[in-house]
Amino acid sequence: MSSIIAELGEKGTKAVLALTRAETERLVKERGAGTALEFPGTNYSLPLIKALLNEEVRTLGDCGLIITEAEKLAAGNPAGNGLFLSAAGGLLNKGLAVLLCEELLASFRYLEGGHPQPETAGFLSDNLLRSLGIQLVDGRISGIAVIAGPAKDADSAVRLIRDLQSKSIVSLLAGSAGGASMLKQLADSGIAVGLDNYIVPLGADYLSVIYAVDWAVRAPLTYGGHKCGQWKEILSYTKEKVPAFVILLSHVDEIITATGLGALAMGFPIITDLDIPEVPKLETTLYEALVRQSDYSAIASACIQTRGIKVKVSEVPVPVPYAAAFEGERVRRDQLHAEFGGKSSLAFEYLHSSPLREVEDGKVEILGPDIDALPKGGRSLPLALIVEVAGRRMQKDFEPILERQIHRFVNYAMGIMHVGQRDMNWIRVSKDAFSKGFRLKHLGVILHAMLHQEYQAIVDKVQVKIYTEKSEVEKLLPTAVGSFAERDERLGGMTDESVDTFYSCLLCQSFAPNHVCIVTPERLGLCGAYSWLDAKASYEITPTGPNQPVLKGRILDERAGQWGNINEFVYLKSNKTVDKVSMYSLLDAPQTSCGCFECIVAVLPEANGVMVVHRDHIGMTPCGMTFTTLAGSVGGGVQTPGFLGVGKLYIASRKFISAEGGLKRVVWMPRELKEMLAERLRRRCEELGDPGLFDKIADEDAAVKIEELLEFLAKAGHPALEMPPLF
Ligand code: SF4
Ligand SMILES: [Zn+2]
Repeated sequence: MSSIIAELGEKGTKAVLALTRAETERLVKERGAGTALEFPGTNYSLPLIKALLNEEVRTLGDCGLIITEAEKLAAGNPAGNGLFLSAAGGLLNKGLAVLLCEELLASFRYLEGGHPQPETAGFLSDNLLRSLGIQLVDGRISGIAVIAGPAKDADSAVRLIRDLQSKSIVSLLAGSAGGASMLKQLADSGIAVGLDNYIVPLGADYLSVIYAVDWAVRAPLTYGGHKCGQWKEILSYTKEKVPAFVILLSHVDEIITATGLGALAMGFPIITDLDIPEVPKLETTLYEALVRQSDYSAIASACIQTRGIKVKVSEVPVPVPYAAAFEGERVRRDQLHAEFGGKSSLAFEYLHSSPLREVEDGKVEILGPDIDALPKGGRSLPLALIVEVAGRRMQKDFEPILERQIHRFVNYAMGIMHVGQRDMNWIRVSKDAFSKGFRLKHLGVILHAMLHQEYQAIVDKVQVKIYTEKSEVEKLLPTAVGSFAERDERLGGMTDESVDTFYSCLLCQSFAPNHVCIVTPERLGLCGAYSWLDAKASYEITPTGPNQPVLKGRILDERAGQWGNINEFVYLKSNKTVDKVSMYSLLDAPQTSCGCFECIVAVLPEANGVMVVHRDHIGMTPCGMTFTTLAGSVGGGVQTPGFLGVGKLYIASRKFISAEGGLKRVVWMPRELKEMLAERLRRRCEELGDPGLFDKIADEDAAVKIEELLEFLAKAGHPALEMPPLF
């Protein structure tokens, strides 16, 4: 252990331990041991401490115990619950001790009533973690880079970030040195930051790296079904399943070294542009996980290689960078070159299938003026974007699925913004994209390339026609609108009874190994992203993929929605942890949740009904828990009768907890969710023969406390009060 890393690490560990003790003592003296400590938006207290030690830090007075545990680790002894790593000669334990202390130090900042650094994210909430989860499993995010320190200059910063973005890697930024920070380097170069752009500044100093650790350590708890204190499983999960790594740039000192050891203990390799000394061969774990790369254009590739990340690359011949990382980027008015639709003009997009012989693959026709021939002084043109696809295995039912991808595919182009769909679309092209040579034909080029790339199993040929003359657009619109209505009707009429096959989705098993979604025509996946048709199409595309057809088989329980084959399939695919599952019940063997549910349904025994809350609702709910707290008890691929993670649209389905009486059981929903689903819910209320039901469902304005709610329900005459008892 004679290496310089061990020496620096040792010194750094001592310094952090001493600092944490001193800070704790000072704060206890100033504010009292009873002062509450917490991070915002989490159900996991101080997540790292909770996960590894199974200790809950609620007040300043609780910190002493944690520091003592950290001291044990740093001295080479196991913590109270056995936490101890023997790899790398025990050096990694010092790293863990440092992270535990740094988490305390970071939580102290929130004592002043908030994260004190402007324009940075600070602690990342449970909700953010959940919304990122689905993007990680479907490959839109391929990895997480924790970038500590500034790049050697602004140009290198931009090059590195663009490289990471084009590989769909999210960058979390922390730390500054010599007055420079990555955030400032990017801002000075006009690079937009924010989660939408795959760049999240955590904080200005190196301590903010702990927020990335706090994010990672919650994945095994929310998705993996691991319990707090199972440190072996948790550390192996972060190592095996969380595709994170550290890029350490420009500057290092003893504390950064000690923190780095912590990252290695979590299983995150470090890639650095610094001169690192040879690591003694003995410490093989360190050796493999510490990589030097001073050539900035090779850093991203080095990360991918070291971490073993799979990147979905899209080769699309357009004159602007093209990757999922650019999907969320906006084109503001002052950057606008041309736009279509929105409030600016009549526009629509429409994809349909045609016979093979009628489609010429790769043909893109522009019928009308292009964006280099805009009307004088104008920036807007009408648009009909018509995509024709043909394929031997193409089905009419796949048309809306492919059409929906136009949004994503167009948005991936840097400097192009796409909002909405069908005849409510809105496309903007930035000045920058235009000056790089982007023209209308490139929309066609993108759609042709991407439809081939992602749907090659069902799409053999793609041709695109783009009309920009108002009279033409007006002429073509009615056919498209007619077809949209026809599709809605066909989909709306599809019932669970009308098919003999449901589909599985196992996509989330990469995070929640025992979780199985069964998707039916009337019940979409709980993430809201997979309908029965989506799953069916995905099976056609990848027959060995996560979406498998499951023949329903013998009906076992009609009311709850249980079938023999479905139970068997779920038993097998849940690694024999779930032996029966109901499609339509909340209380009797409900479906499991992975963690990326859009909404949670929870029983309210006092009201003889249920409440539904969606992810974006931050306020309290009548069950006495916020979404975040509720979410903590649903997930990890286990069944929790009385609680259910669901996709939004399922609430308006005829099969929504039909075993318990369906929509008539719903007594409370946040106003935002109610409004989002208003049209569908009202229709459903009418179907139920109770058109007034919609207004009998309380929202947060009507009631938040259970007593207020009961009063409201009684006054409104809510049917739940008269229904058979839930239990
Ligand atoms: S349908 Fe279920 S398993 Fe599939 S991505 Fe959505 S939540 Fe995950
Ligand atoms: Zn999921």
